[in-house]
Amino acid sequence: MKITKLVCGHCGTALSGLGQDKLFFCSNCGKGWVLDAGGLEPVQVQCRASSSSRLPLPFWMVSAAVHVLKRTVRNEFTSTIVRFGSRYEEDVLAAKKSETGGFSERRTFLFPAFPVDGLPGIGVVLSEKIRDLPGELGQEEPLPAICGGSVSKTDAAILARCIAVGQETEKADWLAEIEIVLSSVKSTLVILPCSVEVEKVNVAETGVSFFRRSVPDWDGIMDYHSSRT
Ligand SMILES: [Zn+2]
Repeated sequence: MKITKLVCGHCGTALSGLGQDKLFFCSNCGKGWVLDAGGLEPVQVQCRASSSSRLPLPFWMVSAAVHVLKRTVRNEFTSTIVRFGSRYEEDVLAAKKSETGGFSERRTFLFPAFPVDGLPGIGVVLSEKIRDLPGELGQEEPLPAICGGSVSKTDAAILARCIAVGQETEKADWLAEIEIVLSSVKSTLVILPCSVEVEKVNVAETGVSFFRRSVPDWDGIMDYHSSRT
């Protein structure tokens, strides 16, 4: 068994979090760390929540080149339902498909770094709100403590691809088949001020929310924060 000492590699402060956490933020010096097989590795951080934020939560911001290698859409989808029922007949429908793939573009994805049911869907809506995020903290402002970041850097890259697929299915055509790969992936830990309102958790000022019951470790996250105040 390999034991990793959870201290900030920059200033030596002990790092805190929950049992499953893979992402750590040093609330003393503001450096971010991600735990992988080789131990703690540094990760870029954007701290957009202050120590007085009600609920600072960790998110991944992943920037990547998205290559849509193949994107097949079905034409006349509604009329084929009328004509052929729900059966998919490749030979009949083959002529009613067109290729819309073969492009690459850089995209930035934003999504929770803690497990949430329906996470890719939250990522699709949140990624459109990156411009609405509060600014980064200034040099002298006191830093928050965070916990719950149990989505590893590897899983973050996989989730970014799921969100890219989700973005393609959201387009106003009938997507039949897609092949997407991501390259030159850059991952940043983003700490956002969140707030709880009855059953929902609001993400900063984005207007995006999710149900707290969709977060498996919600109680652990709340216990961590209440024990620090
Ligand atoms: Zn530190």
